[in-house]
Amino acid sequence: MVSSDQFSELGSVLKCVRCGTCRSVCPVFEESGWESKTARGRMLLAQGLIRGELEPDPEMIESLSMCTTCGICEQKCPAGATPPRVVQSARQQLVQKGNATRAQLQMYTRAAETGNPLGETANRMQWIGEEPEEQSKSDYVYFVGCLGSYRYPDLARKTFRILEKLEVALLEDEKCCGSPIMRTGFDAGELVSHNLDQIRKSGAHTVITSCAGCYNTLKKDYPDEFNVMHVSEFLAEHIDELGLKRLDLTVTFHDSCHLGRSHGVYDAPRRIIEAICDLKEMKSIRENARCCGGGGGVRTGYPELSMKLSKKRLAEVPDDVDYIVTACHLCRNNLIEGGSEHEVIDLVDLVCLAID
Ligand code: SF4
Ligand code: SF4
Repeated sequence: MVSSDQFSELGSVLKCVRCGTCRSVCPVFEESGWESKTARGRMLLAQGLIRGELEPDPEMIESLSMCTTCGICEQKCPAGATPPRVVQSARQQLVQKGNATRAQLQMYTRAAETGNPLGETANRMQWIGEEPEEQSKSDYVYFVGCLGSYRYPDLARKTFRILEKLEVALLEDEKCCGSPIMRTGFDAGELVSHNLDQIRKSGAHTVITSCAGCYNTLKKDYPDEFNVMHVSEFLAEHIDELGLKRLDLTVTFHDSCHLGRSHGVYDAPRRIIEAICDLKEMKSIRENARCCGGGGGVRTGYPELSMKLSKKRLAEVPDDVDYIVTACHLCRNNLIEGGSEHEVIDLVDLVCLAID
């Protein structure tokens, strides 16, 4: 049976007038050259799947799994179609029909068993480097995320050291926000309820995160009970309290799809960078920024494709910059793995250079 969400996605498919604009912007189509790997092709497959007219086959699974959900097709579509949302709905159908890929199933099982898709069993608060203090109630809490907690503990520590001076607390028992689970079509209801209970218990009216995936998920997929801010937005609001000094550096900035195109966070990171040093923009920026190739499960499922997309983004870096700055862990990692000639740092790393 077609659910109400799927009805609305079918409505989006019907808006498609097959103009092909998305074909000219889809970074995955640029690599594959196959119509089934464009937003238009994916939407037709999704329509057949949701209506029960097509049965999943390997080509369909690959087409629907190979979308980075970068959203540039949605941004450019003259008819108002929303291909990334249609893809996500079709992925849910695939999962319900027992067609998840091995990588997707593994990620889901890990998250269910350990509370994070990385399968880490260590204490999630280890990043803090000391026995965490008992958490007091606060209007603001920092949602660290799985990558911050387990893969980038230094960055999580640096971020929290800045935030705690601005009276931001931590959740007592944070788990994965559910983003990678939902984006690949699984149900993340238990993770969402757990985190929601934690946020309610903290008494916070605003959740701050430095992960673009967490930001997107907390904002779009959690009940509308609290504000969500990216750390760049929060720091930009408090810029005069940070004690930033000017550095003799020139950097470029990579817009993350899930922060930029999805939520319009373009100015806050640029405001912080420009308060610290010179900014030299990449070839495509803001709503036109090229995807790094890391999102939508593509990094895990199709590493070769992901690296090709990363290299294309790196080719847009201007000459003579000291650093590439990003505000997304996944983008930073993907640009590093894509073989960047320049050091790729997080916006918070740059802030720390200007504070020390
Ligand atoms: S740009 Fe929009 S209307 Fe044109 S083919 Fe793509 S999805 Fe359809
Ligand atoms: S979201 Fe990005 S990768 Fe997916 S179909 Fe649209 S343009 Fe292509």
